[in-house]
Amino acid sequence: MRIRFLGTGTSYGVPMIGCDCNVCRSEDPRDRRLRTSAVVESGRFRWLIDAGPDLRAQLLAAEISTIDGVFLTHFHSDHVMGLDDLRAITDRRGSPLPVWAPERDVPALIAAFPHLFGDSRRPGWSANLDLRGVRDGERIDAGEERVRALEVPHGRGWSTGWVFGSSFAYFTDLSEMPSTVRDAIRGVDVLAIDMLRVEPHPTHLNLEKSLEIAADCGARAVRFIHMSHEVKHAEVDADLPAGMRLAYDGSIVESG
Ligand SMILES: [Zn+2]
Ligand SMILES: [Zn+2]
Ligand SMILES: [Zn+2]
Repeated sequence: MRIRFLGTGTSYGVPMIGCDCNVCRSEDPRDRRLRTSAVVESGRFRWLIDAGPDLRAQLLAAEISTIDGVFLTHFHSDHVMGLDDLRAITDRRGSPLPVWAPERDVPALIAAFPHLFGDSRRPGWSANLDLRGVRDGERIDAGEERVRALEVPHGRGWSTGWVFGSSFAYFTDLSEMPSTVRDAIRGVDVLAIDMLRVEPHPTHLNLEKSLEIAADCGARAVRFIHMSHEVKHAEVDADLPAGMRLAYDGSIVESG
C-alpha cells in the first residue's frame, strides 16, 4: 500500500493570505501546504481521502485522473468543498463513484451539494456520486481492503478516522483520541495524524499530544498532517523521534 499526501495544511492553507511570517515567506517547498488530503493506492485500486477546495490543483499536480472511491472525514469546508471537482473523475467512469461519509454528516452534505447528492442531480451536469453513510465502528469493503470507520472528538464536533486493515490509519482533525480507538489501531503499520502546531488548540492536536498518541499506538511509521503556518518544516521535523516525520505536499509513505 502506498499513501501519497496531496495536501498537509490547515484550513487556511500555507502560505496564508496576507501573512508575512517566516513560514509563509519560506522558500522551502515543504512549507507550502494545500488543504489536507491523501490518496491511498492498494493493488489496482486508488482511494481519495477528503475533497477540499484545492482538490483540482492537487489531482493535476499528482497526475491522477482515476479514483475508485472517496472517504470523507467530516463536514468541514476544508475537507469537502472540492467535491464538485469529482465531475472530471466521474465523467471518465462508467459507474457511480462511491463516497463514504460519516452517517452524521449525510444531511449536511445533501443540503450543501443538492446537485451532487440531492433531488436536483442532473446527468451530464452533476458528478455521478454514490453517497453512503457509515456508522462509527462499521467496516466496509473497498476493493480488496476492509476499511473501518472510527469516530474521534474534534472539539465539540466529530471527525471520522479511516483504518485500512492493519496497514494504514488516517486521523485528521481531532482534539483527543479515546482509549478505545487507540486500542483498535494499536500496532498499525503507518499512522497519519493531525498536528496543527506546537501550541495547544481547542479542536486540534498539538505537537505534544500528537507525539503522545503516536507513541502510544506504536505505529512503525508516523506522518503528521494538517499543519498551520506556525510549523516550520525543517525546524519541527528535525526534532522528531525515529519513524516520525512531518508529511509534506507530494510526500509518499509505503505501508506493509
Ligand atoms: Zn481541517
Ligand atoms: Zn504566516
Ligand atoms: Zn475540521
